[in-house]
Amino acid sequence: MMIDGKRLLLNLAAFRRFSDTPGSGVTRFSYGSQDAKARRSIINRAKRIGCPVRIDAVGNIRIGLPSNQPGRPAIFCGSHIDTVRNGGWLDGIYGVCSALEVLETLAERGRKKATRNFETVIFAEEEGSNFGSTMTGSKFITGKYGNEDLERLTADNGKTMRQVLQEAGLEPETTAGSQLDPVPWDLSNVAAMLELHIEQGPVLDRAGIPIGIVDSIFGMRVVEVVLTGVGNHAGATPMSERHDPLSAAAECILAAESMVAADPNKRAVVTVGKLEVQPNCSNVIPETVRFSIEVRDSNNEKINRYMSEIIHDIREIALNRDVNCQIHEHSSSKPLHLDDGVREVIRQTAESSGISYRVMDSGAVHDACMIAEASVPTGMIFVPSIDGRSHVPEEDTKGEDLIRGTQLLMDVIETLLTQTEEEQ
Ligand SMILES: [Zn+2]
Repeated sequence: MMIDGKRLLLNLAAFRRFSDTPGSGVTRFSYGSQDAKARRSIINRAKRIGCPVRIDAVGNIRIGLPSNQPGRPAIFCGSHIDTVRNGGWLDGIYGVCSALEVLETLAERGRKKATRNFETVIFAEEEGSNFGSTMTGSKFITGKYGNEDLERLTADNGKTMRQVLQEAGLEPETTAGSQLDPVPWDLSNVAAMLELHIEQGPVLDRAGIPIGIVDSIFGMRVVEVVLTGVGNHAGATPMSERHDPLSAAAECILAAESMVAADPNKRAVVTVGKLEVQPNCSNVIPETVRFSIEVRDSNNEKINRYMSEIIHDIREIALNRDVNCQIHEHSSSKPLHLDDGVREVIRQTAESSGISYRVMDSGAVHDACMIAEASVPTGMIFVPSIDGRSHVPEEDTKGEDLIRGTQLLMDVIETLLTQTEEEQ
């Protein structure tokens, strides 16, 4: 079935206007006024084509086909509707508009021989723009987050997630007779989840390849390092008598950078994104420096090997400079391998359509990963990001690539809709 490429691009352009920062990228936070406009437009479109809409307690949306039948396994397809501040016009909403395009195409043309239901799923609060926690909507769907997180998660203005939801007209805890669906969702009858997304990195654009088929998602390990030296006068203390923890931190950071930069596959990454200096005065040698180090890769052993070597180096540097060193584990997540069966359907569909593709990993985590962790067979498709730019106003993808990605998604879903559970 052919999608309507022109309609897809027009819809994407329409969502670009739902922004708090017109002219400098798209800013559309979940539960804000632009988000409400975008949701209204989606719900109106669904109703126009006769598709039933359900909304859950935290604002995730699911839209079914009128021909769906109770009890049949479902294929889920979608992405997120929110953005970062001054973000791009495609991150998330491309996957949403594509899933809506597939829905509309299926609703218009009917589905021959379908044995499964189809639902477009739109996730709330993926970027963490409100509460500093990413993939919040999908974490509630899968039960990773629950009632206690409604108080724990707070916005910059001090409001809890519960208050923000209530102000947006949602009911965090649904009661009997509520118009809203409860969270978590029952995912036991979901046969597959598909998310189409812009790559947000330079791999496809540099290689001139229009489609990426994701096989794994990076895992990460984060540690927090505290180096304590001797605070002292910046003028009166000779260089030979200093125990400066900031100079030590600089050496640690550069050592970690050059180690991981030499990765033979050129994929592992290390980042120090947070550094606090105390007392942080220009005329005082610092007393304490606290910083984070995170390592990411698609191979967990490699993550742990790099992290052990980095920790070893930090201890040695601290010893040589005679500063005290404490290292605490902060958080970690294992790399995730997406479903082989779904990936094979995507690969064969691309192959038979004569589209060149690359099987690749994803350095970024997406809503689909949360659904995959809840044991739903999951696949992800990427399209190129021009110059690898994302989360900035310059974020862009060629129209032909956007259309090609959505047509591939359509073809993959058509195959999945007629598969039986044994075939999968
Ligand atoms: Zn995204």
